[in-house]
Amino acid sequence: MVWISKSCWLKTSVEYGGPGRPSQLGVVVTNCGYSDWSTMDFPYSMQLALRVRREGSDYIVEACIPEASLIPASAASTAFAEGASLPIRVSSGKVGSPASEWTQLRICHLMEDVSPAGVGKDGKENVDFGLQLQAACEALPLSGVAAGLYACSPKPGGGFQAQFDRLHIVSGRLPGHIVQSHLLGLAYFLVNYVLFLQRFLLTLHYTEHRKLFKPSCGWLNHLAPYLLSPLFGVPAGAYRLHHVVMHHVEDNAWGWDLSSTEGFRRDSLAGFVVYWLRFLLVSGIELPLYALRRGRHSHAATAAAAMAGGWLLTVLLWQRCAVATFYTLLLPYLVSSFALMFGNWSQHIFVDLDAPRDDYKLTYNCLACPDNPKTYNDGYHIIHHANSRLHWSEMPAAFVQQLELHDAKDALAFKGIGFFDVGLAVFTGRLGWLADRIVPCGPKQAARSRQEWVQLLQHRLQPVTRVKVA
Ligand SMILES: [Zn+2]
Repeated sequence: MVWISKSCWLKTSVEYGGPGRPSQLGVVVTNCGYSDWSTMDFPYSMQLALRVRREGSDYIVEACIPEASLIPASAASTAFAEGASLPIRVSSGKVGSPASEWTQLRICHLMEDVSPAGVGKDGKENVDFGLQLQAACEALPLSGVAAGLYACSPKPGGGFQAQFDRLHIVSGRLPGHIVQSHLLGLAYFLVNYVLFLQRFLLTLHYTEHRKLFKPSCGWLNHLAPYLLSPLFGVPAGAYRLHHVVMHHVEDNAWGWDLSSTEGFRRDSLAGFVVYWLRFLLVSGIELPLYALRRGRHSHAATAAAAMAGGWLLTVLLWQRCAVATFYTLLLPYLVSSFALMFGNWSQHIFVDLDAPRDDYKLTYNCLACPDNPKTYNDGYHIIHHANSRLHWSEMPAAFVQQLELHDAKDALAFKGIGFFDVGLAVFTGRLGWLADRIVPCGPKQAARSRQEWVQLLQHRLQPVTRVKVA
């Protein structure tokens, strides 16, 4: 019950109706010293939970009846007739469960639960009630609201034993009352992705290659790949295994690198859709299996446990608040998996089928790309594949030092565009547009005509024979 004063209180309980008659589940509300009583038949013998909660100036009284505890009314009546104890157990438990599990018994006001100035405890002005109530009731300024358990019995009945399992008195709002707004969710997603996605993914990339924090505070290195990455659509614990351990070591090799592009015709949109869907739907299974096949058991166990835990948490959060879970975890996974896979496809869209394992022929550089200052010089991708431990600030100098090698191996370098531009140009058949943006790395390449460049690009789009290499 909730007690404000002798003349203002509410109580909810089950009242025994007598042999052969249903008990009454009821709420008594007393205002200004006058009580009214609402009832409903309660023809069961069972465990029952009751809840009184305050929303603004309203009191909401609810009951929760677990179906497993239902006993038909006839059985309960029989038990009474034989003088057995009535196993109605009243509990205030399950306070935090969603509103959908509760049956509403009553919504009411406690008239004295307003200050004399007409301001409710929630700080909102109670214009309709405050002043009227002062005249209607002899309300005293409130110092608090009392709540607790009660049981009573008519004196001639000889009393009974009342059992309460638990009592919770908590502040705050129920999960069922969380505002689930698609507009808010979309706004969060867009702000997060527009402002931070590229920075986060590239920071994750380089800090997985070169640890950001010293060993003395090495635990901080786990924050990005385990805690933050799911908010940007990268499953917890998956990035390092997928990118550093698998992609760089296997070097785009078909059959081992799960993100290998070489077996596809890389100007095929259908090929890319298959490539993306494979990552989206089965990488959570394929990735730990890859680690097992390569004998990296601890990587397999860590990634499998982290990813399984992440998805389990997502399911639990979905049950709690589906809208928030969709915009903070599921939509990011969908969008980021597409962005990551389109990025990787584009980075390895030109592969020389005559030397597909050569770092200078399985990817290309993007020079003077506007994104480079924001992506740790990610455009120098040949340099990165040749030495993934090289600090990003040293990549331009390394490229200049290796110009002759680039020229000799016919390594590709585009100027002023990024990986996504290259991918889009290939899908839209604009190889000439790409050829115009190629920067020759030496005399051999400088001698090549535009048409010869287009032919070279076409050659490097052909699928490498899908033979699994050892
Ligand atoms: Zn890398």
